[in-house]
Amino acid sequence: MNKKTLFFSLTAMLLSGLSYGQKHCYTDEVRKEILAAHPEILVREADLNKQINEALKHIDYSKLEKKTTTDQTGNEDFWYEIPIVVHIVHDYGAEYITDNSIFDAVKQWNIVYAKQNADTATVIAPFKKYIGNAHIRLHLATKDPMGNPTHGITRHRSYMATNGGDKAKLDDWSPSSYMNIWFINKFSGAHTGAAAYAYQPPTADAIPYYDGVISLYDYIVNDNTINHEIGHCFYLDHPWGNNNSAGAGACSDGGTDNVDDTPPTLGHNVTGCTAAALYDTTCAHNYFKIYPNVAGLDSLVNYPDTTNSENIMDYTYCSKMFTRGQVNRMHAALNSTVAGRNHLWNDTNLLYTGALAARPDLKPIPEFNCTYLAGSAPRLQMFTCPGTSLRFTNKTWNDTVSSLVWSFSNGASTPSTTISNPSFSSFVNNSFTDGGWVNITMKATGNNSGDTTVVFDKSVFVADPVATPAANIVEEFNPAENLAKWPMFNYYNNEFKWEASNVGFYDNHSIKYNGYDSRVNPTLGIYPPTGMPKGDYDDFFSVPVDLTSMASGNCNLNFFTSGASRSSNSLDISDTMIISYSVDKAKTWTTLKVLAKSDLLNKGAISTPYVPTTTTDWVGRTISIPAAARQNYVVFRFRYFPGDDHNGYEISTGNNFYMDRLSFSPYAAGVNDVTIGNLDAIVVPNPTNGNAYVVVKDAGNTTAEVTVSDIAGKVIYKVIQPIVGSETRIEIPQSYIQVQGIYMVQTTTGGLTKTQKLVVY
Ligand SMILES: [Zn+2]
Repeated sequence: MNKKTLFFSLTAMLLSGLSYGQKHCYTDEVRKEILAAHPEILVREADLNKQINEALKHIDYSKLEKKTTTDQTGNEDFWYEIPIVVHIVHDYGAEYITDNSIFDAVKQWNIVYAKQNADTATVIAPFKKYIGNAHIRLHLATKDPMGNPTHGITRHRSYMATNGGDKAKLDDWSPSSYMNIWFINKFSGAHTGAAAYAYQPPTADAIPYYDGVISLYDYIVNDNTINHEIGHCFYLDHPWGNNNSAGAGACSDGGTDNVDDTPPTLGHNVTGCTAAALYDTTCAHNYFKIYPNVAGLDSLVNYPDTTNSENIMDYTYCSKMFTRGQVNRMHAALNSTVAGRNHLWNDTNLLYTGALAARPDLKPIPEFNCTYLAGSAPRLQMFTCPGTSLRFTNKTWNDTVSSLVWSFSNGASTPSTTISNPSFSSFVNNSFTDGGWVNITMKATGNNSGDTTVVFDKSVFVADPVATPAANIVEEFNPAENLAKWPMFNYYNNEFKWEASNVGFYDNHSIKYNGYDSRVNPTLGIYPPTGMPKGDYDDFFSVPVDLTSMASGNCNLNFFTSGASRSSNSLDISDTMIISYSVDKAKTWTTLKVLAKSDLLNKGAISTPYVPTTTTDWVGRTISIPAAARQNYVVFRFRYFPGDDHNGYEISTGNNFYMDRLSFSPYAAGVNDVTIGNLDAIVVPNPTNGNAYVVVKDAGNTTAEVTVSDIAGKVIYKVIQPIVGSETRIEIPQSYIQVQGIYMVQTTTGGLTKTQKLVVY
């Protein structure tokens, strides 16, 4: 063998998918899981089996092998035209495959369903005459459920791309009109050995939004995986039935696929396409069937005495064929109302989905992802600092793009650039000089379809070029003040997110992590695939802080929190917040503190959406900042991971979490707020650049005294004011606090005294 031959042999082996660590189909595993929760599906299975057996009764198996093709109507030229939609559930990884690779894959699937795959010529002799032509054609829809033109492809960014399962089945299109096929990067937890799976019609009928195929993106044309899964959708079993794993059990355990021309087998895992695997007589020895005929002689069909290891429904990775009997079973399922299969291919539905129409010329959809130049996970949203380079990579789809024009605001190092014929790896690097949200414009010109311009104005946030002295920061998260400089990122655009809240520790403002998922109904048992907490995380970032004034001695990050869980089972509470800092302008991050559930959820279990109501609902947190972080430009990142259950059901168990009054100080949280007794008095707004007020609540006296001192201790303002009602506002006029800096405000009433820091800017 010369080198060239060797090379081609290796290539052929790789292309044939011959690898002993191959993943396989998890249809039987997920069926068992669903049945455990929904045993009533067994009734639907029995019902469909009855319908199918009735339909198959009319087929003369003794003649089946001699027919050129088969179908349900007697018309040998009839084809089942099936509208499909391909959903790419991605996090901008390798699973973000091109539209063209999807178009090519559909062609490949159809070649197999039309028995046009060249390797049918090499099927072992005993099965040549049993190869079935499925007469099924899959068509990417040209109309979406709203009637809008489409290429039958959707793309959805989700953390479930690498944590896939039924909840990753985003944007399902009505399964009685479209066969849904999702591609992801990785399956979650217990299903990590899966290449793909599908639900058969009885389960799909019970849970329509789980109907369809979900597969790893790299199995799109690997060993007929999608043909295999759609086989399940049309009610095919694995040839060994669904009782055991492939290769397990005994011939006598009754596992069957209810198809006569797939001889009995234990099934196969990947063994290589060896003679021993292809001529496996373990259960198929002397295999024949007698078909009673009331009108005359019974007929005996002597089927091959070896299993059909090259069957697409086996796991051998030598797959080449469906049998004629399997084709009949698929056709019977396609003629059943169960899971609306008979609706898929009817004329009305083919018009509704535009399945038989030519692919329309559609405009491109501009899209990109962003990474730190130093390397990071790709995201649509990114926090950066002036001068730190980001990489923007083109992900525009829906049309072949001839020209892509990119423009960036905020003093970008490359304010504008044009890329001809961009691919998914075309990129531009950029850094920025100006703080705030960057305005990013992409104009993509399609081949014939015109151009599309999209403005992304909340994707990249650049921190202030100048750091704020730590002593000046008392962040109350008030949108009317500088909250806009504390950017929040809901990376996956869902219900779990940071947001401004109108309740607070003192004032009516704080930052809230919305951890209460209002969509989950735990009594329902089935959760709509609208999102789950596992895998999600959301950030907010501080303004850049100058900590050099606290370079020596104590230096603390102080804030107040108030939080609850929804679940009362401590095993089911997993909320976590990781606080990190960067001293190199967001290029790298160092963990400062991991706050676990016991640190975050001081209010325990609360079944309704949690809202703090009194100051006693809050607790102070003090986190020591190490010397290495006390630099002149430090940014802090607060990353929240919403809670989920410990059983892997991917149920949201968290509730809302609030943070307020964030400051930096040599003292622990609370020391700035010296309270004697239980006086409820608060200075607002704080910081201020105008008047300030002391709001005194529920004071047990007729008057209150407010004394304002400067940082040196000199009294600069004093007032005594009557208390009126339950809440009294005492003004500190701007004219007394015009100089920027820190003031101490002391409030005394009825023998109670409270001293608070007031920041004027
Ligand atoms: Zn399977």
